Amino acid sequence: MKMGLCSFCLKSGILCQKCSAKLKSGEVSETDLRVARLLLSLEEKFPSLQNVYFYKTIETGRTLAIVVGPGDVPRLLGYGGKIVKTLGEEMGRNIRVLENGVDNRKFLEDLFAPLSILTINTIWLPDGSTETRVILGRKRGARSSLDVKALKEIASKVRNITLRVEYAD
Ligand SMILES: [Zn+2]
Repeated sequence: MKMGLCSFCLKSGILCQKCSAKLKSGEVSETDLRVARLLLSLEEKFPSLQNVYFYKTIETGRTLAIVVGPGDVPRLLGYGGKIVKTLGEEMGRNIRVLENGVDNRKFLEDLFAPLSILTINTIWLPDGSTETRVILGRKRGARSSLDVKALKEIASKVRNITLRVEYAD
């Protein structure tokens, strides 16, 4: 696992001047640090984590989104979901894994997984602002575990988009 802090600092838990400055400025949060150290400790058991670039976390309610590099989502979701399960247990949150630098469709697919997205379109409001309407397909049992309010907040924080979520009949 790579990120904006030195791997030596992450491993030792004692931060050099450069890394502690990033923590102090808020560029890296305490939660980012906890997740990074967790990911690092899981590398031996789940070697695909070695190639993951970890950007940051976004916390909303009981949901914790982990933003990783392009193509890294499968590396975290592999092993039958064991990595995400461990992270969820350790952090006491529902984990979402998102990719940095992808288009809106891919971002929303990861955000709402395992639900499928049937339609995405833009709605223009009278005041000139826009909302992104997402119509989700049905998947038994999955809907109840998703906190749509938290996911909307994450979309707003990460992509600056306002979501309107609907379900297909
Ligand atoms: Zn350092």
